[in-house]
Amino acid sequence: GIIDTVTVAIVDMQGRLTGKEIQAEFFLEEIVEHGTEGCNYLLAVDVDMNTVPGYSMSSWETGYGDFVMKPDLKTLRYLPWQPKTAFVLADVVWLDGEDVVVSPRQILKRQLQRLRDRGLVAMCGTELEFIVFNDTYEEAWKKGYRNLEPANLYNVDYSIMGVNRVGPLLREIRLAMTKAGLYVESVKGECNLGQHEIAFRYAEALATCDNHVLYKLGAKEIAASFGKALTFMAKVNQREGSSCHTHLSIRTTDQKMIMADADNPSELSLFGRQFLAGLLSHLEELTLFFAPNINSYKRFVEGSFAPTAIAWGRDNRTCSMRVIGHGASLRVENRVPGGDANPYLAIAAMLAAGMDGLDKEMKLEDPFAGNAYVADIRRVPATMDEALRLWQGSTFVAEAFGGEVKEHYANMARTEITAYSRAVTDWELYRSFERM
Ligand code: GLU
Ligand code: MG
Ligand code: MG
Repeated sequence: GIIDTVTVAIVDMQGRLTGKEIQAEFFLEEIVEHGTEGCNYLLAVDVDMNTVPGYSMSSWETGYGDFVMKPDLKTLRYLPWQPKTAFVLADVVWLDGEDVVVSPRQILKRQLQRLRDRGLVAMCGTELEFIVFNDTYEEAWKKGYRNLEPANLYNVDYSIMGVNRVGPLLREIRLAMTKAGLYVESVKGECNLGQHEIAFRYAEALATCDNHVLYKLGAKEIAASFGKALTFMAKVNQREGSSCHTHLSIRTTDQKMIMADADNPSELSLFGRQFLAGLLSHLEELTLFFAPNINSYKRFVEGSFAPTAIAWGRDNRTCSMRVIGHGASLRVENRVPGGDANPYLAIAAMLAAGMDGLDKEMKLEDPFAGNAYVADIRRVPATMDEALRLWQGSTFVAEAFGGEVKEHYANMARTEITAYSRAVTDWELYRSFERM
């Protein structure tokens, strides 16, 4: 046959794919035997949901039992960069079939259901930036991730020459993603050396996230096949970081556009204003879902095109929320998430916050005009400690996602913060080794 392997994967807390490569014959046999609902691929791998001892998830206390992967056949497609391989995403459930409620895909699905209950759907696009190095991943590791060679040594925003220097790799990624069923729109150079961005067409929120995680895996694997290292880390050096601007517009289930004002299509409707007001009002306490790593916070630097101020503006790149488009294309661009964000969690957070704005009929502040970097206004949390504190102190988080999700992701943050606080960094060594 054409396909001899089916990669079945679930999404872990960090938005990465975890799973197994299943022999195609076995995959078919399971589907025929159990039907698509009952596919029963037992998974005994660490899905990074159990990093904290004693936590209620699979752990030493519970004997590290299995989860079950339940393939969502709507996501089945070719995995073009692997030979004779198909790919399918799965939801993760307990052995008794109950949902693992803290799994990112289910967190998003629950918010999408709340939205659908109101007769609404979310259309999203995620704009991932990444940096390519000429070193292989192994060379990068051996060099301690220092003094890597950017794949193009000339770049300014939108530089055609910069893009063309990495042309063969970027072309291969575009073609592979198209074969995998993603709709590629364009590629552009970003500011940092070796930094680029491939744009995909927006789609319904869940499809956008499913495509997003597959694209990240593919881009990294294809780069490896070119002998290069590619990273979506939020910040790898002192220059510009890599973002994941998240575009969102809401439609009715019968596809009516409701973000723009009917009489003045370049302005937000009352619906759009309340939704955005909700987003702004909950941004601080939800930052953990936009910036889930220690490194994420190093990106929030003034003048780097990453946001530091909590404000919205009409086509204003210095604000965390940028309103762009006109009429049917009018949308909110959330500029807070970095390339390391988990899109399921980031979009779930935006939807929950927006719906609260609708429920409470929140009033939107005036748009910010000018340079928000230097304005005396609210700031995006500057560290993960601060974001965790705000998350834990929030009643809205538990209300919107449930107490189990709140505690689970607080654990994720605590684990990350503890690991970081114990690391002796090369910065400390460079600063003190010889002079102390
Ligand atoms: N690289 C910038 C950031 O880290 C974003 C650049 C852009 O506006 O596309 O947020
Ligand atoms: Mg960009
Ligand atoms: Mg953008």
